[in-house]
Amino acid sequence: DLGLGGWPARRALMTPDRTAFVFGEDAVTYAEFAERTATAAQRLRADGVGRGDRVAYLGPNHLAFVETMFAAHRIGAVFVPLNFRLAAPEIDYVLADSEPEVLVYAPECAGTVGALENRPRRIVALTDPQPGEQEYETWLAAAGPDPIEERVGFDETALILYTSGTTGRPKGAMLTHGNLVWNTVNLLVGVDVVSDDVALITAPLFHVAALDQTLLPTFIKGACSVIAPGWDVDACYDRIERNGITWMFGVTTMFAELAASPRWAEADLSSLRIVMSGGAAVPEALIRTYQERGLVFCQGYGMTETAPGATFLEAGESVRKVGSAGVPVFFTGVRVVRPDGTDADPGEPGEVLVKGPNVSPGYWRNPQATDAAFEDGWFRSGDLASFDDEGHLHVVDRVKDMFISGGENVYPAEVENALFEHPAVAEAAVVGVPDERWGEVGRAFVVCHPGSAPTGDELREFLRTRLARYKVPVHVDLVDSLPRTGSGKIQKSELRKR
Ligand code: AMP
Ligand code: MG
Repeated sequence: DLGLGGWPARRALMTPDRTAFVFGEDAVTYAEFAERTATAAQRLRADGVGRGDRVAYLGPNHLAFVETMFAAHRIGAVFVPLNFRLAAPEIDYVLADSEPEVLVYAPECAGTVGALENRPRRIVALTDPQPGEQEYETWLAAAGPDPIEERVGFDETALILYTSGTTGRPKGAMLTHGNLVWNTVNLLVGVDVVSDDVALITAPLFHVAALDQTLLPTFIKGACSVIAPGWDVDACYDRIERNGITWMFGVTTMFAELAASPRWAEADLSSLRIVMSGGAAVPEALIRTYQERGLVFCQGYGMTETAPGATFLEAGESVRKVGSAGVPVFFTGVRVVRPDGTDADPGEPGEVLVKGPNVSPGYWRNPQATDAAFEDGWFRSGDLASFDDEGHLHVVDRVKDMFISGGENVYPAEVENALFEHPAVAEAAVVGVPDERWGEVGRAFVVCHPGSAPTGDELREFLRTRLARYKVPVHVDLVDSLPRTGSGKIQKSELRKR
């Protein structure tokens, strides 16, 4: 049995009394967790869920998320974690596409579930079930006694993750048990997670970063995951100090918020050993701020479809190789190609392709999207990057976010990084907008730190000292917030519409 569904029982044999999860005031040992997931697996089977059937979960991070996932895997079913920030029509679309047999949901999502048109035949509410629904604990208690003996192979689908949808309709990226195991191996080759570690899970579990990059590697080592229901700066500090967090994954925004908090200077961060960031490059200024506090980032580049690790930069290299996303992870190939498919030279930007045992076999029931995304088994990332002469990848931007101003390529990410150098800038996003004279010019959307209010012209003046003229945005809009997807990425399509 190579599936993830076997992990809880195996871990329970090795380390029954160690704490697997902390959630609020609850601490669950590996033995207790294995028993809960076995019960949940029997319950799913009693409900007629079979191999390959889908089980969906809708809600913020919760122990029930992990129980439902491992239980589904135990019987060879496919787990579909849904983005709880989506509106009812969006969830309806994803449910129509994935057709789950069972939907488990948290009270925060009761409004959404009440408004659904595509209702799975079994709906389980963590609390306050509506007519026709079941309450989670009651549902579990009615599980049958049959022991479950499933053998799940590497090629079977474990997860369908709907991509964050920065463009078009969401697509369900399928990840197999093999994809998840190999990503775990790739991660553990780069990061020294040990059985004494205490991980903080504060990013949403429906996203690969929290689930595959943090929770699974921690679980396989028999270490402890502290599951936070969501992101909150103060709660994050409390958990680090109270639970002795040794490692955490976050996106740049989270690390920037921590550093901007009044607690930054005094908080006891001495337990933290590994801070890992991914999803976007960490600005150099932030790297320096953390370094002064004795913390160095390890960084990853990847995407949902690669489960997600594609390249990795060790903490020890984060200063010398600033701006780089590191080298390909151990069992995975990464190429940078020109539009004609030939390999680009060092220093020459091209599209990133990824191939390896962690790469998705394709999109759920969407052969067109799968065909478009793969070339000879290489996944086309849509990211623009170059290798340097030491074989380190430098991500430049999304292929489609690049714009051309007066014949010159402008990479918004470069302009955003320059904006971050300004002390007043908290968040920034740049898009290309049509312009009669130049074809396209940059438009920046900037969120400032509270209490500082530079004018657009001051920011443009600042950029002129750092960037070529054609890269400096012609328009600068000071805004209160930026539109983000469920995984925290800025929705540039929204900004372009504005
Ligand atoms: P997602 O499809 O939501 O998993 O997001 C994956 C995308 O995030 C990639 O295709 C990149 O555009 C971006 N990304 C991830 N990691 C990095 C990184 N270290 N540096 C720059 N961009 C990144
Ligand atoms: Mg993507």
